[in-house]
Amino acid sequence: MTIQEFDTPDIAFMERCVSLARSGVARGEYPFAAVISRRGQFVCEAHNRVRCDGDVTRHAEMVALSEAQRTLNTTSLDDCTLYSTVEPCAMCAYAIRESRVGRVISGLRSPVMGGYSRWDILVDRGLSSRLPEVFSNPPEIQLGCLHEEVREAFRGRHPLIWRAIEARKIFTAETDGAHSRSGRAGSGINLKDRAMSWARTVILDRFWRA
Ligand SMILES: [Zn+2]
Repeated sequence: MTIQEFDTPDIAFMERCVSLARSGVARGEYPFAAVISRRGQFVCEAHNRVRCDGDVTRHAEMVALSEAQRTLNTTSLDDCTLYSTVEPCAMCAYAIRESRVGRVISGLRSPVMGGYSRWDILVDRGLSSRLPEVFSNPPEIQLGCLHEEVREAFRGRHPLIWRAIEARKIFTAETDGAHSRSGRAGSGINLKDRAMSWARTVILDRFWRA
């Protein structure tokens, strides 16, 4: 997928994401960052906090998802887009599915750890078909957005380590056009999605998770 195929607002949010990733580098983190928007409006952002917090679960996407749920006061992020410098890993992909994020846009692919390229978590339909009250349909996914800028951020962090990452194809900038998939009709949220989101908030969250 080429940059021309990304919408201007998506590129702007991704630029913000890459810039944030660079600021994380200044704090000793690798340039992983995530930004969340809702209906075109900025909601929150986070860079990786694994090193700062000494906690491997503090991936940028996880931190941003937590903040978005707090900020929007809901666990259902159906109308939201998550931007990340690298394709979300398996852990983050599962959290993305459970928080019902509608779209995911990333820079580099992650063939070894990715929740899309390595495992099918982001596009798994079994989750949403068996438990639609919890998991919405797979999000729309676009990879390759500003991948050159993301590469530069990684290379700038540590050129030798980046060379090893590229040699082992841990993160790649391959874009053959096959990495845009959508489990949803367009980017809209259908009536069933809304009903299931409501069911989770009113029924599950109230009686099960309370
Ligand atoms: Zn992750």
